[in-house]
Amino acid sequence: MPTTLIDPSALATIGARRPLVDVAQTVGAEFAAVHGADVDRHARFPSEAIEALRRERALGALIPISLGGRGASLREVAIVGETLARSCASTAMVYAMHQIQVNCIVRHGRTPFLLEVLADAAAHERLFASATTEAGVGGAVRASVCAVDPIPDQPQRFRIEKQASVISYGEYAHAILATARRAPESAAGDQSLVYVPRDKTTLELTSEWDTFGFRGTCSNGFVLRAEGDRHQILPDAYADISTQTMLPTSHVVWSHLWLGLATEAVSRARAYLRAQARKTLGTRPTSAVAVAALVARLAEMRELVHGAARDYELIADDPEQLNRIGFAIRANNLKISASNMVVEIVTEAMSAIGMSAYREDSPYSIGRLLRDAHGAKAMIHNDRILGANAQWLLVAKEEL
Ligand SMILES: Cc1cc2nc3c(=O)[nH]c(=O)nc-3n(C[C@H](O)[C@H](O)[C@H](O)COP(=O)(O)OP(=O)(O)OC[C@H]3O[C@@H](n4cnc5c(N)ncnc54)[C@H](O)[C@@H]3O)c2cc1C
Repeated sequence: MPTTLIDPSALATIGARRPLVDVAQTVGAEFAAVHGADVDRHARFPSEAIEALRRERALGALIPISLGGRGASLREVAIVGETLARSCASTAMVYAMHQIQVNCIVRHGRTPFLLEVLADAAAHERLFASATTEAGVGGAVRASVCAVDPIPDQPQRFRIEKQASVISYGEYAHAILATARRAPESAAGDQSLVYVPRDKTTLELTSEWDTFGFRGTCSNGFVLRAEGDRHQILPDAYADISTQTMLPTSHVVWSHLWLGLATEAVSRARAYLRAQARKTLGTRPTSAVAVAALVARLAEMRELVHGAARDYELIADDPEQLNRIGFAIRANNLKISASNMVVEIVTEAMSAIGMSAYREDSPYSIGRLLRDAHGAKAMIHNDRILGANAQWLLVAKEEL
């Protein structure tokens, strides 16, 4: 990594930034919690919380210090998502999806152009979105219909047109990372990851986002059309980017976010239990046993999620280990288990609280948490992921 892309005097101010964990708590309490219900009701972008994160220099957190970022670890940004999710899942999901894209460039963008992209992103707190889902292949992220299409007589230029059925916050992002076949003659799985800045891209709206949960992610469908220079294409094959970075990073940050939802639900159940206990001094409220079971289940989920992040960090710089089938299966298992656990825990919390959780106008309401929790399974459908694991198990010999 070059160390000269930013003014060295600016480096001195980086150390003075507030710790990310404090930033997450403040932004969660003062912005995400205040505007979360409105974001959900109107399916609108969580602009207040994202702007607050931007002011705190939290968007560029993963970018190395030498490029102007915080040089934070994936675990640190995952905890930011976990904390934000307690107040507004959409804010947390925008933050998480952005960090997935940043991590792909940090780990696979070793070209002068892409290092400049990172330095610019750190300096201006740019927001990056993703276009992997495509009409015709859906959530099969390892296949593309669209291709990087060379422009005749301009060997360095390309064009891309993608029927992108879901691009979260596409209209609010500075740039989008899109998957496409490497060339028009390439097979569906021979893909590249392409950086397309919004000011060189048109997004033609094809569908709007009126969903059950994660309503503030504004995940509209578009036809994405862009032209660019070949240096916008990440040098590594998407197969490697996906296996070594995009897939495990996604599952780590998403599972933290779902853990945040589960933690909030259990916290409300505990608050309800204490309120009941104050009303019936001397007797144990009927929901106490259910809440005790919930606390135990949440501890299991926390161990699973935090442990998986630690495991990934341990081998993150070892391509040989990252390319093992066993690692891919374990990363997929994290997604499957955490996405099931969050629904189970939030549902049980609703049951333990009862009517006060079912109501929308109660401090113990669980409605929004439950709706958001159900997005977990659908986000790259668990059945699709189990299908991939089933295929790998036919050949995997290692212990899992
Ligand atoms: C909140 C949210 C934000 C998102 N943001 C983005 C974004 O920014 N960019 C982006 O590109 N995408 C985004 N997506 C889309 C997401 O990544 C998936 O592409 C999308 O959820 C469709 O997933 P899927 O194709 O796996 O499932 P679907 O196509 O919905 O699967 C449909 C059904 O087919 C079954 N199925 C599919 N494949 C298999 C299989 N192999 N084996 C068994 N059963 C199978 C499943 O059981 C499922 O019931 C977002 C999704 C959500 C929920």
